[in-house]
Amino acid sequence: MRPYNFSAGPAVLPEPVLAQAAAEMLDWHGSGMGVMEMSHRGREFISIYEQAEADLRSLLAVPAQFRILFMQGGGLGENAIVPLNLSRGGQVDVVVSGAWSQKSAAEARRYADVAVAASNETDGHTSLPAPASWQLRDGARYVHLCSNETIHGVEYQQLPDLAALGCSAPLVIDCSSHILSRPIDWQRVGLAFAGAQKNIGPAGLTLVIVREDLIGHALPVCPSAFDYKTVADNGSMFNTPPTYAIYIAGLVFQWLKAQGGVAAMEARNIAKAELLYGYLDRSGLYRNRVAPEGRSRMNVPFFLHDERLNDSFLAGAKERGLLQLKGHKSVGGMRASIYNAMPLDGVQALVAYLKDFAQRHG
Ligand SMILES: *Cc1c(COP(=O)(O)O)cnc(C)c1O
Repeated sequence: MRPYNFSAGPAVLPEPVLAQAAAEMLDWHGSGMGVMEMSHRGREFISIYEQAEADLRSLLAVPAQFRILFMQGGGLGENAIVPLNLSRGGQVDVVVSGAWSQKSAAEARRYADVAVAASNETDGHTSLPAPASWQLRDGARYVHLCSNETIHGVEYQQLPDLAALGCSAPLVIDCSSHILSRPIDWQRVGLAFAGAQKNIGPAGLTLVIVREDLIGHALPVCPSAFDYKTVADNGSMFNTPPTYAIYIAGLVFQWLKAQGGVAAMEARNIAKAELLYGYLDRSGLYRNRVAPEGRSRMNVPFFLHDERLNDSFLAGAKERGLLQLKGHKSVGGMRASIYNAMPLDGVQALVAYLKDFAQRHG
């Protein structure tokens, strides 16, 4: 059996997907070619691409007026690409809920007049800035929110309804680390972006799902390959897309459909998160610092009360086949990322180890 991999990203992929990719590595469906060797404009790859797009659209119930773009540049690339396309050099409001949205604000400042609408920096990014408290400007071209903060483990359980807050600007969400773990309310979203390497597939692919009316307003300095209009008009093939990453993402989409889709994944993700947080809260040895209403179902940072035990905790975990539990360097402690591809068995094995370690060191 393979170990359980709790990496925050690049992260674990479903084993059947890896097995299928391995089986098709040298010859995809009798074509005599591996997917990496195919022209992106050939019939074979176009069929892979179209299936992946259609499956993603159905999994996330993406409405017809949204375009799905398969891009490159990662989440950090989108921190520049979004303001280049949407800001028109004007105002952008950013909600800072952790390290990733902080980076988004800093990058957008290079292209737009950025204001921080709310921030949880004073409590170390452990609370959820409540929408009612956000300071939104009338002239904002968009409002940026990181709907799941991968490093600090803070997640919005509901997307804000900007219109109800009296704001007519579109909401942009960085959903890199929880896309496909739960449904997305498209009524409340203008644009969603996600690097693939957390919950979709290999690094190198970035998904952008954008409402049509937001396309076509890029600043003149925006690189053509990053202009949403150029990308959309060319079916994500203005330049060579990350073909192999799209193929793997497509296999993950098919796996998700076979699991029952996003609603079924959400139910499993709730069960996994409740099991882990429930134990952490009851234990005397471990602690998660995030306010309960803001706790991420995907990324669970936690601390040992006695941090001198960190190295021995990690060594023991590795021995039991529980990998990559070390916390992000800016936060310290531990972090268990429990994305779609982490089965309940993996979380049960982690909790069993946590209990065992606590008994030996409590
Ligand atoms: C990982 C991550 C990013 C950065 O992605 P890159 O592909 O490294 O650019 C951005 N936002 C969030 C929420 C992330 O989890």
